[in-house]
Amino acid sequence: MNTTLIALAIALLVVTGMIVQLGILSLLSGAFFFLFGKSKLDVLKASDDESFAFGYRWNNSREPAKFNHVVVRLFNPFGKKTQVTVSSDYAAQDSDFAVEVKFGPAFKDILDIENLDSATVEVEIKSKEGITQSRQMKARKFIEAYRGATQTVEEFNGEFGYEKPKKFYHQTSRSFIADPIPEGNIPVGLRISANPQFAGEFAGNGGGDAAAQENFAVSKVWIEEGCIVCNACEGIYPEVFEVTDTNCVIRPDAPLDNGLLILEAAEACPTEVIKFEKA
Ligand code: SF4
Repeated sequence: MNTTLIALAIALLVVTGMIVQLGILSLLSGAFFFLFGKSKLDVLKASDDESFAFGYRWNNSREPAKFNHVVVRLFNPFGKKTQVTVSSDYAAQDSDFAVEVKFGPAFKDILDIENLDSATVEVEIKSKEGITQSRQMKARKFIEAYRGATQTVEEFNGEFGYEKPKKFYHQTSRSFIADPIPEGNIPVGLRISANPQFAGEFAGNGGGDAAAQENFAVSKVWIEEGCIVCNACEGIYPEVFEVTDTNCVIRPDAPLDNGLLILEAAEACPTEVIKFEKA
């Protein structure tokens, strides 16, 4: 009888010990992930002031994602440009990567600001699946990291041993610059799409000085060979274009009545493989 009780007590102790050990291990692994498993954004050396180069590392076995879009936003409440947003697509990446994208002149507005300590810069990395990772920092920290970067995309990939046989493609998809808020109650004509004074500039395929273009229907839209799955078209008109792992296809129930948006996607396509016929 005594022997059975002792055996039971030992078994209980062993089981309890195992449970405690598992608990400790799980806590340690959580703490390890918290300390060392976080994703990391490295600002890299860009070729010019219109470009942004960065490296991104994350635990892709824990969080599978195909990152293919980057957004940089400046919030500058006391500056001449209150907000600047630039964004770009690039070839989707499912493991650590480095890429350089050219945002164009709007990016210089971010680099040239004066209110370094009151402005904020946010960098967002987005995936095709809808995952968004973002970093926010003082503009000063961002500019210092940008100006002080010495490592290029190639050196980053070399250091971490990333083989990137496929060329990186990118396509700037959106730029937005908000004019300063007018002082007092003076009815200054803000250059925004809601202002009839500037409606023509914002109509149709994205503005510029072109006159407002009338919309039209298309009878047929198709993709020729040469798609590089950059995702630009789907970003512009997801109801029509669907980008798969290897190609872009037209959705079977695609609406064909917004020719201007299809035209915008065709013009944004870096390989010019989107074709359509007007109805
Ligand atoms: S069709 Fe053009 S825009 Fe669309 S994913 Fe392919 S290359 Fe990019």
